[in-house]
Amino acid sequence: MEAIQMIRDAEKYLIPLFNAMGERAFINQSKVLQAFKDNRVRELHFSPSSGYGYSDTGRDLLENIFAQTFDAEAGLVRPQIVSGTHAISACLCSLLKSGDQLISASGPPYDTLANIIKGNQVPGHSLVERGIDYCEIPLISGTEPDLAALSQALSSRTKMVIIQRSRGYTLRPALTVAQIAAIVKTVRAVNPSIIVFVDNCYGEFCDIIEPSSCGAHLVAGSLIKNPGGGLAPSGGYIVGRKDLVEEVSYYLTAPGLGKELGASLGNKRAYYQGFFLAPHTVLQALKGAVLVAYIFEQLGFEVYPRFNEERGDIVQAIKLDNPEMVTQFCQIVQHCSPVDSDVKLEFARLPGYADPVVMAAGTFVQGSSIELSCDAPLRAPFCAFWQGGLTYEHIRLVLHHLIDYFRSGGY
Ligand SMILES: *Cc1c(COP(=O)(O)O)cnc(C)c1O
Repeated sequence: MEAIQMIRDAEKYLIPLFNAMGERAFINQSKVLQAFKDNRVRELHFSPSSGYGYSDTGRDLLENIFAQTFDAEAGLVRPQIVSGTHAISACLCSLLKSGDQLISASGPPYDTLANIIKGNQVPGHSLVERGIDYCEIPLISGTEPDLAALSQALSSRTKMVIIQRSRGYTLRPALTVAQIAAIVKTVRAVNPSIIVFVDNCYGEFCDIIEPSSCGAHLVAGSLIKNPGGGLAPSGGYIVGRKDLVEEVSYYLTAPGLGKELGASLGNKRAYYQGFFLAPHTVLQALKGAVLVAYIFEQLGFEVYPRFNEERGDIVQAIKLDNPEMVTQFCQIVQHCSPVDSDVKLEFARLPGYADPVVMAAGTFVQGSSIELSCDAPLRAPFCAFWQGGLTYEHIRLVLHHLIDYFRSGGY
């Protein structure tokens, strides 16, 4: 069978799933539009600001739009937040003091965060080295939050519970918003003053409810992932309770300066337009991930999640067994990219990551992973982590090449 026929057959089978995802994107699009309308966005809000950025109304309005869409009181949406890791790190470092306890309710955190919490790369700077007690509650069978163990671990010293929604570079499923809600409920029952913080990277708009709608006090993510819609050129966001967002803002800029400063320079239109597009862009990525899962399962590979499993993030893992096959998989994605298509990939060390990683990122925005990208750490089980895609057509085209390669026995 021709590769294209295999894709067409898969798409026919996947129509009901695609339709259901389309309905969710429709609801999210209407939420975003409502926030734009309620905040009376005008062209003048896209104008550049400079210097200190006092009275940057375009910046402030965009933060209101993020907050409203995510059901939060306040937001920080800034190009000065250099990445998702920075957004999350700012929340942890500003709110946790020596003697406080931080509990992860979702097992071990993402590679770059493990470094910030436990520290293995920059001695002296980790939370643990600064006197914060850290405790990890593993997921039951690697999938379910262990609410009983969490409840038991909570104490008067517990200041914050952190939840990572996405799978990160692991095979565990992304947490659903319902699971996040159950964690919130458990924490509240013990001590309502404990801050529930969600690393929402890759999770935005995958569901019609966001973590802040079900009680999370603070949520952070990257603008070169889902909520940037593929247009935001850099940055991160934080939304949540007003007092917490303010506290974080004093850490991000300086005490007393907070949110009032920070010129958003000349790219504001891209942030607004990107957020407006984000529900649709995430839909493209989700449809693509489902198609990849379905096809690779047919080709005989293990995939996480399976095509018909509930998705709490846009990440699709494909288990490929050895580093060569992982590199080749990523190389095909790179060859089918609009930028740097002729670049040859290899495993290399990246700041913040413990193991060498290979990354296919032939993207318009450097390292953007709401654009089609595929990466993997050099460790067993050797998996490619696929995510993003600005258009479904592009994803379909890449898949066409992957099918040809993997069926030709070229591995
Ligand atoms: C991407 C990601 C982050 C942050 O990564 P950056 O590359 O710094 O934006 C944090 N947590 C998870 C689960 C992620 O997927």
